[in-house]
Amino acid sequence: MKESGMLKISDNTRTVLERRYLKKDPAGNLEETPEELFQRVASCIAEAEGYYEDGLDPSEVAEAFYRVMTEFKFLPNSPTLMNAGNDLGQLAACFVLPVDDSLEGIFDAVKNAALIHKSGGGTGFSFSRLRAKNCRVGSTGGVASGPVSFMKIFNTATEQVKQGGTRRGANMAILRVDHPDILEFIGCKEDNEALNNFNISVGVTDAFMQAVRQGEAYDLIDPRNGEPRGSLDARTVYETLIHQAWFNGDPGIVFLDRINRDNPTPEIGEIESTNPCGEQPLLPMEACNLGSVNLSRCVAVQGGKTRVDYEALKETVWLAVRFLDDTIEMSRYPLAAIDEMVKGNRKIGLGVMGFADLLFMMGIPYNSDEAVALAEKVMGFVQAEAHEASRHLAVSRGAFPNIDKSVFKGDEARAYRNATCTTIAPTGTLSIIAGCSSGIEPVFALSFVRRVMDGDELVEVNPLFEATARARGFYSDELMARIAKVGTIAHMEEIPEDVRAVFVTAHDVSPEWHIRMQAAFQNHTDNAVSKTVNLPRQASEDEVRDIYDMAFDLCCKGVTIYRDGSKENQVLSVSDAK
Ligand code: UDP
Repeated sequence: MKESGMLKISDNTRTVLERRYLKKDPAGNLEETPEELFQRVASCIAEAEGYYEDGLDPSEVAEAFYRVMTEFKFLPNSPTLMNAGNDLGQLAACFVLPVDDSLEGIFDAVKNAALIHKSGGGTGFSFSRLRAKNCRVGSTGGVASGPVSFMKIFNTATEQVKQGGTRRGANMAILRVDHPDILEFIGCKEDNEALNNFNISVGVTDAFMQAVRQGEAYDLIDPRNGEPRGSLDARTVYETLIHQAWFNGDPGIVFLDRINRDNPTPEIGEIESTNPCGEQPLLPMEACNLGSVNLSRCVAVQGGKTRVDYEALKETVWLAVRFLDDTIEMSRYPLAAIDEMVKGNRKIGLGVMGFADLLFMMGIPYNSDEAVALAEKVMGFVQAEAHEASRHLAVSRGAFPNIDKSVFKGDEARAYRNATCTTIAPTGTLSIIAGCSSGIEPVFALSFVRRVMDGDELVEVNPLFEATARARGFYSDELMARIAKVGTIAHMEEIPEDVRAVFVTAHDVSPEWHIRMQAAFQNHTDNAVSKTVNLPRQASEDEVRDIYDMAFDLCCKGVTIYRDGSKENQVLSVSDAK
């Protein structure tokens, strides 16, 4: 690769890269610069081009990958940035592991999860195959301890393995709503610390939702033989789930039948779980690498107005799809079974970040029909182009090997290189590196107080809001500090009304708009969408029920809610919430 000039990056980006991404020697000294990081990643991934007879010139492709990453138009998920070209070489963020109903099966999964965490990946599990608590154990004559008790072993193992030394293991546990231990599972995170390395979600079926609506009982199923084993009143279970989610955000809910309607390879298996943050449903032993396009960098200004630059977006999406497909080739998976599954389906998950920034730039309120229409249009475009790029790759590299066992069998128009192409990730750290709003979320605050180490407090202002405040002449340090305290500008009459309408934060957006936005993106996403519905502290359980009902009706694949202050160690908080 050609030498590139000094990269212009913000202090925040530099800090995150130095702390977690740049190579270090055993003594902790930095061994690479941010430029070298992106060169390492670009060259490593572009090496895959050399594997194909009619692949492109790896050094030219590396240049293009370097450019798109350092312009912060596209970034691959964290494990790719951390491990590409390094000894570990494991590049995917998302895994799902099977947990079979035997001691061997359970401890295999614990071991495999540890290996994945070490490489920076997150793991999802369905515990639905485990026999219920107090069932007989044939070989010993004793009784089984049930899914929740085994989850604690996974949790402890995770606690001991820091992910690649840089991030703590993240896990998702899913239990089907018809598992006999479902009530114990729903309550299992009431004591916040017991399963602190798990997100949990109840796997809900259409039959269950129907039973809720009709006020009926539904059967619990013994996972060992598929026979009914008692029944529960659907509404009681739904209310318990809602209460618990209202109480502290866990469990979330995933709609398993909806997810499996989009399963591209039902012949290979049924989808039972997602990755830790819920955006990536996968088959057992499957992994997926994600990447995100920064929408706030794919814009053009015309006559003083900002619009989406669809040409730039298309170019970025095509390059990103090539990047993610090449990543599959270059990744070293921790288990042979995972390698085989990944290379059979070749799933990739391209998504977007910086959506809220884009809306700020375009002057569109997040909570408006116009924003929802823009979401449909932009994501529709990203998905169509991603599919087209994947089909184009299939022409020279071949379709994904399992295509004849997929829903695309015999369909020339959908002969893809990748069984799935799109996923909306949370982009928790990627968005900090790219300096944009995360995923498709509204911004959390326009101005907030950052506590620095010596106890000082700094007021940090959203750069797009600051620019508008200065341009419109209402900027003052005093006002910014007050906004950090109040958390919203909705009622500040000294700020022009049109500015107040556009610069909304997560808490100004009602649950209905959160779900409508999630559904709009889901309509154009092969996999799923990471989204949190924020609620004020005083929100009621009825409001949570309305959110769940609406998410089901609008065909979302899952929902996560978060009521302000309901987790003790809330990471980000507007300063008066305490
Ligand atoms: N993830 C993880 N541990 C973490 C953060 C993320 O295992 O501390 C995994 C998890 O599967 C999550 C996925 O990475 O769903 C994507 O998360 P995000 O987009 O926030 O990651 P980023 O690439 O921004 O670090």
